[in-house]
Amino acid sequence: MSFKLPELPYAYNALEPYYYEATVRIHHDTHHKAYVDSLNVTEARLAEARDKGDFALIKHWEHELAFHGSGHLLHTLFWENMRPGGSSTPKGSLAERIIEDFGSFNNFKKQFTAAAVAVEGSGWTLLVWSPFFKELEVLQAEKHQNLTQWGVIPLLIVDVWEHAYYLKYQNERVKWVEAWWNLVNWEDVLQRFEDSASLMNVSW
Ligand code: MN
Repeated sequence: MSFKLPELPYAYNALEPYYYEATVRIHHDTHHKAYVDSLNVTEARLAEARDKGDFALIKHWEHELAFHGSGHLLHTLFWENMRPGGSSTPKGSLAERIIEDFGSFNNFKKQFTAAAVAVEGSGWTLLVWSPFFKELEVLQAEKHQNLTQWGVIPLLIVDVWEHAYYLKYQNERVKWVEAWWNLVNWEDVLQRFEDSASLMNVSW
């Protein structure tokens, strides 16, 4: 799969005076584009690694996958979350849910603002819906990713903290991971994948 830089859903100068045309142009055409291009390079290098069975650089490429994948995804959402002139407050079920989970819109806005201002270094602040916890949350992200891509739903998980394997496997994590493959419940994984498929038409 090859990723493409999405066009802005408005003109470069449409967010003036709050967001300057020159900044929007550089941010979209240069910064966002670099994430898309690097994500495509990363996907190609990972395909090569799979073909060759050579995972010597796996840590590097997994980092690149998380960094550029999350960078592309978050910028796409960022552009679509804005519109010329804005709109003052949420409506409908979102408005109700914000009140339920944060007490009031004003409380939510204060928490979101405080979280955004307090992000350490470079990053983002997001309002998210957790399908697992069934609630809205405000989350910070340092850089784009911390080795994940936003919006994914976990299907299959292995715990590689030492507490998960140390008594039997000591420092030999690879032996634990190889043993763990014998325990996987693929029917559970399939069920999670099929349940998640209803979200395949989420539009960006
Ligand atoms: Mn950016």
